[in-house]
Amino acid sequence: MALLEIKNLRKNFGELQVLKDINISIEKGEVLVLIGPSGSGKSTFLRCLNLLEQPSGGNIYYNGTNILEHGFNPVPYRRHVGMCFQRFNLFPFMTVLENVMFAPRLVLKKHKDEIRQTALTLLDKVGLKNKADVYPATLSGGQQQRVAIARSLAMNPEVMLFDEPTSALDPELVGEVLAVMKDLAKSGMTMVTVTHEMGFAKEVSDRVIFMDAGYVVEDESPKEMFTNPKNERTKAFLSRILNK
Ligand code: ADP
Ligand code: MG
Repeated sequence: MALLEIKNLRKNFGELQVLKDINISIEKGEVLVLIGPSGSGKSTFLRCLNLLEQPSGGNIYYNGTNILEHGFNPVPYRRHVGMCFQRFNLFPFMTVLENVMFAPRLVLKKHKDEIRQTALTLLDKVGLKNKADVYPATLSGGQQQRVAIARSLAMNPEVMLFDEPTSALDPELVGEVLAVMKDLAKSGMTMVTVTHEMGFAKEVSDRVIFMDAGYVVEDESPKEMFTNPKNERTKAFLSRILNK
């Protein structure tokens, strides 16, 4: 059984049809990269996946359960689906460690010491254990994004969604965030990442999905996608971004 099975997913904003018919199956441990022009629906798709947006139609099965069925409780589900955005939105009035401990303290029924230990382990994993007691404003954008990743991981998610996690960063800070994401992918995390970092897609992903105008146009291994794209729209998009 797939971890996530997306069937005929649709999303409208009023008259605007943003997702028209999305079909994607995601296995446990798979690393997907989502590419496509601005406005093609990538962020909306991710937001539908963790129910930040209510889809207009179709079905999403999580471990076989239809999460769009009437009466499904999105709150526990969202804990299994971590999300990292372009803007990291750390709490400015909390230290790095407090940021990472905040959500688990609120919802996980665990002792504070255990939560602190886990948070420190996660900060170590993203290379920032020595920054545990400082405030986010003292960190670079790359460091803040790594804290945001640790914060998501603190809820022990089964899937991580990344929406252009490096596109707000200065170029020299992109690598450190991608390195953390690469480690995460290697550790077996299921990941769906919207990114323009084609090096990451080539090196780390199992599949690359090209979306355009609310449809999945192509869904391929990175090798196929980058050496032998089939659809004309994929070819045009790739030649635009690869020749930048
Ligand atoms: P992408 O992430 O691929 O750039 P988005 O999913 O952000 O695309 O947006 C797809 C389309 O949906 C765009 O035309 C955008 O303006 C529109 N859109 C996104 N969110 C909303 C919203 N909350 N209300 C109305 N339109 C929206
Ligand atoms: Mg977007």
